[in-house]
Amino acid sequence: MTLKLSARQEWVMQSEIRNMSIECDRIGGINLSQGVCDTEIPLSVRREAQEAIESGVNTYTHYAGFQELREAIAVKQKKFTGMKVNSETEIIVSAGATGALYCACLALLNPEDEVIVFEPFYGYHISTLVATGAVPVYVRMSPPDWSFLMADLEKIVTSKTRCIIINSPANPSGKVFTETELKQLADFAARHDLFVFTDEIYEHFLYDGRIHIPPATLPGMWDRTITISGLSKTFSITGWRIGYCICDARWAQTIGYFSDLVYVCAPAPLQTGVAKGLLTLETSYYENLSNEYAKKRDLICNGLSMAGLKPNIPQGAYYVLADISSLPGKNSKERAMYLLRKTGVACVPGEAFYHDDSGEYLARFCFAKDDDVLAEACGRLASLKSL
Ligand code: PLP
Repeated sequence: MTLKLSARQEWVMQSEIRNMSIECDRIGGINLSQGVCDTEIPLSVRREAQEAIESGVNTYTHYAGFQELREAIAVKQKKFTGMKVNSETEIIVSAGATGALYCACLALLNPEDEVIVFEPFYGYHISTLVATGAVPVYVRMSPPDWSFLMADLEKIVTSKTRCIIINSPANPSGKVFTETELKQLADFAARHDLFVFTDEIYEHFLYDGRIHIPPATLPGMWDRTITISGLSKTFSITGWRIGYCICDARWAQTIGYFSDLVYVCAPAPLQTGVAKGLLTLETSYYENLSNEYAKKRDLICNGLSMAGLKPNIPQGAYYVLADISSLPGKNSKERAMYLLRKTGVACVPGEAFYHDDSGEYLARFCFAKDDDVLAEACGRLASLKSL
């Protein structure tokens, strides 16, 4: 037989995150590797989705999503960011933020277009770019605050550069880009005539009074910015697959056509549930989320410090990158495996977030877990000291 997998298969190789989860399940450990939230889904969201199924909202929707959901997204966007969005022409609901980014890449990038990505990065961003033929180029952010140099961006920009990806609050670093940084990036994007894809999935996970500024709201940025977000994290519905992008109508329609091609539509009854949540949950829901997660952040960061794994305190999102250089092993994978074997706590080896070996001494711990699970994880990590 001469049949074999396509040349594309290498882009979707088993991710480190999935690997660690499988290994963790095998030994019955505590999984702090995957970004799956244990927190409760808002009751109104759940109820509305259940009622939608019962009342027959089970067929295909418009490729861009139910108009009622797009309207709800527009209302929420206005309320939290001041962005005024036309819900009929400027919003495409897709299969999660992941689906929205994939469709934006298909619609707006050509093979061999270069895309600037900040490092440490979220692996799906890279895989999505590569899968659609684009070429990621990297700008390094440095701990503890994950700052970067505009000079580094100027060094790597070429005539092929077409886009820059911003993820704020960021996975895995927890960085929340400041207004000054975003303005510098906006100026850079305008000077080099680039698209800006901005992944804002953690927009409601902000600590120590930090604020989220969507790049699309900066002067002159609307036309070139594709704002991508979703409710996976905010409503703890990672499996529902509801996300969206917001952008100028001239891009939105084609992104929508690609979303139609790949997904047809996001799940109909779940769209209804999400719309209800967006329209009815008070501002306090979102504030509580940040407060609740700030406590979880403090819990895990204390635990990591006590165990001698120095954390880089995240400013947002729900991951912490910690220094695991004190653990034995040749690379971050061996160190993470050592930690799992000795303590039963799974994390993601730092190498998953860098294109070279710069993540060797880092590991990512997800703190979107129940407090008692986090406390148990911290207890187990503390046992490292006595080994
Ligand atoms: N973007 C980032 C930065 C993420 O960390 C994740 C999930 O971990 C996603 C997107 C996935 O979002 P969705 O579930 O809406 O596809």
